[in-house]
Order: sequence, then C-alpha cells, then structure tokens
Amino acid sequence: MRTMKRNDEREPMHVFEEHESEVRSYVRAFPAVFDRARGSRLYDEEGTAYIDFFSGAGALNYGHNHPRLKEDLLEYLTGDGITHSLDMATRAKRRFIERFRDVVLEPRDLAYKLLFPGPTGTNAVEAALKLARKATGRTTVFAFQGGFHGMTLGSLAITSNRMKRDGAGQPLEHTRLLPFDGDERDGLDSLAYLRRELGDAASRGELPAAVVLETVQCEGGVRVASADWLRGVEEVCRAHDVLLVVDDIQAGCGRTGRFFSFEESGIRPDLVCLSKSLSGLGIPMALVLLREDLDVFQPGEHNGTFRGHNLAFVTAARALEFWSDRAFQRAVEAKALLLRHRLESIVEGRPSTEMTVRGRGLVQGIAFDDPSVAEAVSRQCFERGLVIETAGHEDEVLKFLPALTIDVASLEQGLDIVEESLEAVLTGQPEPALV
Ligand SMILES: *Cc1c(COP(=O)(O)O)cnc(C)c1O
Repeated sequence: MRTMKRNDEREPMHVFEEHESEVRSYVRAFPAVFDRARGSRLYDEEGTAYIDFFSGAGALNYGHNHPRLKEDLLEYLTGDGITHSLDMATRAKRRFIERFRDVVLEPRDLAYKLLFPGPTGTNAVEAALKLARKATGRTTVFAFQGGFHGMTLGSLAITSNRMKRDGAGQPLEHTRLLPFDGDERDGLDSLAYLRRELGDAASRGELPAAVVLETVQCEGGVRVASADWLRGVEEVCRAHDVLLVVDDIQAGCGRTGRFFSFEESGIRPDLVCLSKSLSGLGIPMALVLLREDLDVFQPGEHNGTFRGHNLAFVTAARALEFWSDRAFQRAVEAKALLLRHRLESIVEGRPSTEMTVRGRGLVQGIAFDDPSVAEAVSRQCFERGLVIETAGHEDEVLKFLPALTIDVASLEQGLDIVEESLEAVLTGQPEPALV
C-alpha cells in the first residue's frame, strides 16, 4: 500500500493523515475523498466517477444505495420506526426473520435457529466459536491456512495472516491451522492431512470442538475449495463428531451465485456465519445460523447492545427478495461467466507473464507469480477510475468483487480498465496523472 504524505492543510487527505491512526488501510490504496455513490459508481468530492469492483470488501453485493432498499429505509425512518431495540421484539425484526425463513431456510430444507450477535462479522465468528466450545465441552478449534475470520482475539486466533496475528499482543491459543484445499503438506494432500490430524487428536482424547472454513478464501487470495473437498471435510468431521462451521461472511449472500456458498457442494454445516452483505445497504448486521440442538446458551449468556439494529433488519428483509427471483440469479450467473471468460482471455493473451485466474461466481482473482504486479495494477486502475483491491498473503492477487447488480456495460468498462492497466504495468509505462 502506498502512503501519500501531504502536509498541506488544503490537501483533501490532510485531515485523515494528520488525525487518524496509522492503522488506516484502504484509504491508502484509494486516496480520494468519496462523497456519493449509486449502483456500481462511486464519486469523489470533485465529482470524479469510479467504477466499483471492490463493493466494500463484499458488504455491497447489491451495489450502493439500491433504490428499493433505500425506499424501505426512508419510509421506516419517516414513520418513526424503532431504530434500536437491543433484542426486544420489533415488527422490523419479525419481518426479517419471517422472510429469512420463507426465502432462505425453507426452500433449502434448512432448520437452523437464528442467533443475532453484535453487528459485525467478527461478532458472528466469536459467537459461533463460543457456542461450538460450549456445546461440545472442547477447547481447540481447527481452521485453515489462508483463512480470514476477523480481528478480535477469538476470530484472529483462527486467521492465518501473520501480520494481522502479530497485532494481537498476546498468544493466540487453542487453535490449529491446517493446509487448505490445494496445499500440500508432508507429502499428504490437505484432506488426508485433516483426516490424520483428527485421527491423532481423537486417539489422544483431544478432539477439537469444530472445524471452521471459508468455501472461498476471499481475503486469503480468492482460494477456492472444491465441492469434493468440502464434502470430504464434512465426512471427516461427522466421523469424529466434530462441528463444521462455515464462515460465509464474504462468500455468502450470493457472492458465488447462490445465497450460500456451500449450496452447490450439498454440505450441511452445523453453524453458519453471515454478515457483510446481509443488510444489503452496507449497514452493519450479522447472523449465526445454528443446528437446533446446538442452541445451548442460557438466556443472555451471549449478549451485545447492537444486536437489535432495526435499520439493518428493514433493508435485509428487502434484500432477501432478490433471492426469490430466478431472473436475478440467472443474471448473476451470466455476469460471472462473462467476468471469468474475460479474465481467462486477458491471461491467455499474455503467456510470458505467470498468472492464473481463480474464483467462483462474482468473486474472481488473477494471481501473479510476481506479487508486486497486482498492487501496481490496482494503483493504475484507480488512476484510470476503477476501484479494485488486492488480496493474498503477499497481496499477489488482483481481486474482482463487482456488485451482483452491476450492469454489463460497467462490468465490461471496468474490465477494459484492468486490461489497459495490466498492459501498462507489464510494459513498464509510467502511471498516468491522477484522474
Ligand atoms: C470480513 C470477514 C470477517 C470479519 O468481518 P468484520 O465485519 O470485518 O468483523 C470474517 N470472516 C470473513 C470470511 C470475512 O470476509
């Protein structure tokens, strides 16, 4: 990431650089002061437009300010609807629960109970970890290398990124990170490795409470687990009576084409974490789905002030309507194919550069052998009016995360910018002046 030090008070970034902690991060990659946004377009305060291939790291699957969601929210506010309610019952919350049951759970024959944690992704992961440990009476949790699950101590302990772990300031214990699909270790494939580890743990009487995974490691560099691998993990977990937790915070809510990212594999996780695009408008909201017999917290044993965020319930209920519309899903599938084909042709057209395309649905990546390329391309894209981030432990992957609602013309326009920027980086052209 680049740091632009500007000491001039009239510079638009001055206030952030002067007063905000060094921990700020995305602002360094995208140094503009954003003002408005609609659909897949962001505008900075100067009125410059950017196409958005970042979608708030997956929190804006339906684009910015979707008119339908905004309409419901404005109506709710105008009518003095309850904005905050802890976990007291409200009409907005009941509507969300009913719609989640009708649109998501029942059509998939899923009988999960709903636990509302605090409103961020890491709150959902923490709740799932606590619940898994309490329900099994076991302490250890297994997760996978390359996985990302959040920044609080419990979720950080199953997150693999070294730099992020180093920020903990204390040991991150009672967890083990195993090789993910495609990672080889000690001459064993990752599934055989998991089988051996769980077998060993069982013989020592030290089985973990749960195995936590992402079906697509989004932050980890768009690393995709195959359906066979997911079924294999499920089978090994069942054999040892270990809970399977899917962290669908980024890959869920339609990112891979269906509402849940695990649907195509047919696995049935014991616990599922959702957040990011659940509210659909970028409003914080999180949810843990749990098998009924895992509902072991006493009333209030897990708690939090912001679990009753009704503005999020309002927009989330409306956002779920997308998932009762087959035409919407077909359009997402068509755009995913278009994106994938275009990335493959970009890569195939440049055989002298080592890079590969990977992903599922509308989360795709180009992984570069030379890790500096992805960041250079992201920077060139920004200067040409496209917001696109990098991922992976060395930021070696250019990560495509357009809104599911993006129009085809904007998708193609963004891809043209990527191709132009990649060409500029590979041929060593200087960066264009800021747009
Ligand atoms: C973003 C993310 C989280 C953490 O969510 P926060 O809202 O940032 O706490 C956890 N798991 C996955 C897979 C994520 O992408």
